[in-house]
Order: sequence, then structure tokens, then C-alpha cells
Amino acid sequence: MISEKKSIKRLTFDELQATLEIMGLRGYRAGQITSWIYQHYAVTFEEMTNIAKGERDQLAAAFSLPAPSLLQAERSSDGTRKFLFGLEDGHAIESVLIPDDDRLTLCISSQVGCQQACRFCLTGQGGFARNLLFYEISDQVLEVSRILRNEGSRGITNIVLMGMGEPLANLEEVLKAVRIITSDRALGISGRRITLSTDGLVPEIDALGRAGVKVNLAVSLNATTDETRDRIMPVNRRYPLMELLAACKRFPLEPRRRITFEYVLLKGINDSEDDALRLARLLKGIKCKVNLIPFNPFPGSEFKRPVDISVKRFQKILQDRHYTVLVRESRGRDISAACGQLRERASAGRH
Ligand code: SAH
Repeated sequence: MISEKKSIKRLTFDELQATLEIMGLRGYRAGQITSWIYQHYAVTFEEMTNIAKGERDQLAAAFSLPAPSLLQAERSSDGTRKFLFGLEDGHAIESVLIPDDDRLTLCISSQVGCQQACRFCLTGQGGFARNLLFYEISDQVLEVSRILRNEGSRGITNIVLMGMGEPLANLEEVLKAVRIITSDRALGISGRRITLSTDGLVPEIDALGRAGVKVNLAVSLNATTDETRDRIMPVNRRYPLMELLAACKRFPLEPRRRITFEYVLLKGINDSEDDALRLARLLKGIKCKVNLIPFNPFPGSEFKRPVDISVKRFQKILQDRHYTVLVRESRGRDISAACGQLRERASAGRH
């Protein structure tokens, strides 16, 4: 059944405040409603007991309060959990929860599919459907928090925008979502604990810097020459390496903050000693750390994962040049946790 009422979550805080005033409700109700939705996991207006009964009825008559449906949840032997959420229009998106020592990181999606068409990425192969709206981005955090609360488990500590989609291709909605995720009235997770990962959209990196939201920036570099990067990441034909690195250099960083460079290691493509040496030279003068990600293969992928020893060698060359380098293993392999895999499987099952 399609509800005629408008979802209250479609309104930003300022819009909600203005709308409430038009309805004759006091503006401070906006803060109370936001807190009920995002901090007390309310699913009805009836639950919002510090709001007068008459006003609750008025809200329920004007608005709906829908939540995305949980279509599927899986748990990997390494503790990684994957959630597939259904949206109002029938599309599905995935979020991955990754426990790591003292952290519990949620990896969220910013688009349904992706237009960037990186050749090593399964989401990129599947094409693009649409941008997510801001509340569909923040709802992933809300819904997983709700699940954890109901289990009595510890809450999410970190957020990475590294799921499906290119967050900077949907910057406006991503920024609104970040406001909900960071607001003390809503989800209350510090921007310092949020990382936005981009494939390198230069004008939008600048726009993010100007927007003044204090999130961490990660850049998927993945190659050390334009020739190779052009081949595996079409975005490079628009914004080649030198332009991208210049944007990274001028990106405003808070004290003690660094840019993360992600580097997916593809056997025989970008994993040579020369690549490691070139990478060390390219990153000179940028406050950064490097995450090496051995390629996570998927059915039909044209690339291979390098052997561990060449991953180690690549890491050591950078470490010897005083870079902080972590090898990020793909988590949750037994539940197909690499980008796009759960959605892919779910849709294969429907055919
Ligand atoms: N569009 C954004 C965020 C989504 S991709 C971006 O490009 O950064 C998140 C990370 O996963 C990127 O660093 C990407 O390079 C990496 N990635 C994509 N497919 C992968 C695969 N099959 N194996 C390993 N890493 C992959």
C-alpha cells in the first residue's frame, strides 16, 4: 500500500521546523521529534510521549514515519555482518558492519549502483540506478543501530562511505546525511569518525573542502601512472593523477588529520616494485596514510589478487620511505562482502 502521507524523514531539520510552525506546532518540537526518531528509535508518533496527544495526532495525520525494510542479514565467520535494505521504490542497497578491536565500523552506500565503472569493482559492473536521498543514507546508520540496540550489542563507532556508489557524485545528499549522522539531536557520531571515500572527482573534492564538514577523506588511487589509471578507472580521463593529487594537497585538513589513499592491488597491473616506488614519490608532501587492499575477486572478474609476498614487498617499499601503510584484507569473504556482491546475489536469486 502506498501511503499518501509524506515521510517526515524527507524533511531536513530546518524544513521540519518551518513545516511544524506552519502547522501551528512549536518549533522546538522539531528537536524532540528528531530525538525520538534517531535516538529512541520511535516508529510511531504515538510513542513520542513528551509531545501533547493532540499534536501527536496532528503529526500522524500529516506524516508517515517509514523505515527501510531489512531484506536480508548475513554474518561472516570473521564477525562481519551484511545487511540488505529495501527502499520505498523497490531498489535494494547494502551496508556492511565490520568489528575491529575497539571499533565497530559501518560501511554505507550513497547510490543505488554506480556510474564510475571502475573495472575491478562489482558495483561498477552492475550499472547505475539512482542517487540515494539523504535520509536513505542516514537510515542505514539508524537501522543498523536499532538492530544492535535490540540485541543489546555495542553501538556503531565509525562510519565509512565506501559501500555502493560514489559519494561525491551525490554530494548534496551526502552532506545532508552527514549532518544527521553527526548532529547531537540525531545520531551523534563525530565527523572525525566518518570517512568519505572517492574515486577522485576533483571539483567535488574541492567542494567538500569548502563545505566545512569535518569528515575524513579517502581517495581510491589504485594506480601510479595515467596510462594504467585511465584503463582501470575511467574517472582518470577527466581528472588525471596530477590534478587529483593537487586537489589532495589543497584539501583543508584538521590538525593531526591525514588523507587516506586506498590502493587496490591487482596482480600484474599495479603491484610492481616500480609502482611502489612511484607511489612513494607521488605522495611526497601530502599528509597521508596508505591502505593497500589486495583485490577481492568476484565471478567473471578479469583481475587477480597478488600473492601475499608481493603485497608485503609493496608495503615494505612504502614503509621504508616512512609512510604508514596498512594491508586491508577484504572482510566477510564467506558472505560475499566485497562491494555489491550481496545485492548481486539477491538479484540473481530473483531471476
Ligand atoms: N566510489 C568510492 C567508494 C566505493 S568503493 C571510491 O571509489 O572510493 C570503496 C573501495 O573499495 C575503493 O577503494 C575501491 O577501490 C575498493 N574496491 C572496489 N572493488 C574492489 C575489489 N573487487 N577488491 C578490492 N577493493 C575493491
